[in-house]
Amino acid sequence: MDGEGKRGKAVIVGGSIAGMSCAHALTLAGWDVLVLEKTPSSPTGSPTGAGLGLNSFSQQIIQSWLPHSQQQQLLHNTTMPLTIDQNREKKVHSTVTRDESFNFRAAHWADLHGLLYTALPSDIFLWGHLFLSFHVVDGKDSVIVKAKVLATGKVVEIVGDLLVAADGCLSSIRQKYLPDFKLRYSGYCAWRGVLDFSKIENSETITGIRKAYPDLGKGLYFDLASGTHTGLYELPNKRLNWIWYVNQPEPEVKGTSVTMKVNSDMIQKMQQEAEKVLIPEFVKVIKETREPFLNFIYDSDPLEKIFWDNVVLVGDAAHPTTPHCVRSTNMSILDAAVLGKCMEKWGAQKLESALEEYQFIRLPVTSKQVLHARRLGRLKQGLVLPDREPFDPKLVRPDDHQELLVRNTPFFNDVPLSLGLIPSGCL
Ligand SMILES: Cc1cc2nc3c(=O)[nH]c(=O)nc-3n(C[C@H](O)[C@H](O)[C@H](O)COP(=O)(O)OP(=O)(O)OC[C@H]3O[C@@H](n4cnc5c(N)ncnc54)[C@H](O)[C@@H]3O)c2cc1C
Repeated sequence: MDGEGKRGKAVIVGGSIAGMSCAHALTLAGWDVLVLEKTPSSPTGSPTGAGLGLNSFSQQIIQSWLPHSQQQQLLHNTTMPLTIDQNREKKVHSTVTRDESFNFRAAHWADLHGLLYTALPSDIFLWGHLFLSFHVVDGKDSVIVKAKVLATGKVVEIVGDLLVAADGCLSSIRQKYLPDFKLRYSGYCAWRGVLDFSKIENSETITGIRKAYPDLGKGLYFDLASGTHTGLYELPNKRLNWIWYVNQPEPEVKGTSVTMKVNSDMIQKMQQEAEKVLIPEFVKVIKETREPFLNFIYDSDPLEKIFWDNVVLVGDAAHPTTPHCVRSTNMSILDAAVLGKCMEKWGAQKLESALEEYQFIRLPVTSKQVLHARRLGRLKQGLVLPDREPFDPKLVRPDDHQELLVRNTPFFNDVPLSLGLIPSGCL
């Protein structure tokens, strides 16, 4: 609420992690919020997505958004420890780096999304609403958003004081301010999947993978091989999350997603290739996974601005990134928390100051993290880097150890103290 008692109204486009997080943070800051999301209904409870890692600060922020102690317990129950971050050389399973104080927790995307969603009032969501366009009213006092109701084809207009672009790495809101913006292809894609092993717990596949990766359930494994690498960790409710990065030319990405639906031929070819490259225990997990999917890995050079007028970018819209520093979701949550605190501090009447402070805090941090993730990905994929020989996991140098550790990401423990974002008792 601002000094004169008028509540600001934010229209948030995108109801994924960044959008949900902003809905929490802005509501707490005294704003009215409305979330427009093109998917027809909440994916809560569906198997959509795969695994993600939450750092301890994100966990604390989420806890502070969940009003009831039961829900706070739920965050603990829907995540698993990711205490150890380790890189190994694939063939001989030899440990290259091992960080025992990584202190993340693993969640399934749909579980985290569901947790954030169910803690918000359902009437702030407009599902099945495709954002079409917006215009800022002269004087920047308000913004008018047009959206299409997908069920009826009707176009509706919504007026707000602030437009929050949480519409992902292909953001069409960002495109209006940066018409020449293009994502940058990383040089590789990632096969991903989640194996539900609840009915095959004692199978050869599961006993085999647990033997090959004894820290499953508490750690995150990266296996490094020549020109490729994999990631593996366990998720709650007896699931294994895996990812396999494969160098390949830029695909022709059609439509509005960087995730591709794959057919059975592609899966078969991928499995044959995996047999040549990966260890047999990992291959078995891949082969038993239903509906693996393919992500094309993109990022972008850091933007110079993340707000214009009364329009602000958050999450992947503000800083598309490769996943190697486990930042994407954590950045979205921190963006939202900082935005909320800036709004609380300045009030709806001083929106420009609030957005300037948000940008001042977040842009230097996310810019460095995106570039660091880019470098780490290229390193692990054995791709060319300007200042070193391509990385070879069989000839690891002492310097490589530092580069490989996720905790050496710039601002790894970044906590913007100035805004009082630390929940009491956490330091
Ligand atoms: C369904 C789904 C599953 C995911 N699963 C994982 C996962 O398992 N692991 C992981 O690390 N990351 C996952 N991600 C990505 C992850 O959420 C993001 O990388 C990160 O959390 C930042 O989120 P974001 O909200 O900024 O962007 P995104 O998660 O990409 O969300 C953008 C949202 O905006 C909506 N949107 C876009 N354009 C419009 C429009 N014109 N009108 C209305 N709505 C629009 C999209 O439907 C989407 O819900 C997933 C994303 C989605 C959408």
